[in-house]
Amino acid sequence: MCHASILVLAALSVSAQTRRETTLTNIDGAAALKQLMDGNERFTKGEEKNPDRDKAARAKTATSQRPMAIVLSCSDSRVAPEILFDAGVGDLFVVRVAGNTLTLEGQASMEYAVAVLGCPLVIVLGHESCGAVDAGIQAYKDNATFPGRIDSLLDSIEPAVAIASAKGPVTMEHAIDENVAYATQSVKMAGTILSKAVAEGKLTVVGGVYHLDSGKVEILDAN
Ligand SMILES: [Zn+2]
Repeated sequence: MCHASILVLAALSVSAQTRRETTLTNIDGAAALKQLMDGNERFTKGEEKNPDRDKAARAKTATSQRPMAIVLSCSDSRVAPEILFDAGVGDLFVVRVAGNTLTLEGQASMEYAVAVLGCPLVIVLGHESCGAVDAGIQAYKDNATFPGRIDSLLDSIEPAVAIASAKGPVTMEHAIDENVAYATQSVKMAGTILSKAVAEGKLTVVGGVYHLDSGKVEILDAN
């Protein structure tokens, strides 16, 4: 058995044990989404409760975790999931990459959160004025290229820009929405673990856009 397999099995074993020990309440995707949106409303109103961010919360989660949601968000410094959802330690399992696209590593991280930690919800979170989406538009429309490994990010964004382009003139707002929708569908169909959990009704996957000025998360329609 290769070293990586041994590590994975060890992690699964430890997690299975900690899951039995956890005292956190099971909630479904709809309830998790409501908690997130309630937290976002507190954030927009400046009424954050900063739940479970203290020493006691750290102690409570030191030996186990049961996050209520997976967030796939952009790396943008203004889009910090725990802050904008007014969430605490242990609440969110966060995957961040510029442009909030689904990478293989991101998929694997989500599979762990669903299969081992029992996460019932994925929210793909795009945001206004996303530089990665803007670069994706430039790459698609003008064949622009970018230094280093940046172009590799855009390969995942350009399909969404192409979909937006097929519907009319591409605006940033439209491309951002399509990019979220594309990643949301990609999560629903990804691999066997995520797609099976969705089919069995154990995993809810939604898309949203974060508005930088208001702080509000807008949930996008599924279609
Ligand atoms: Zn961004």
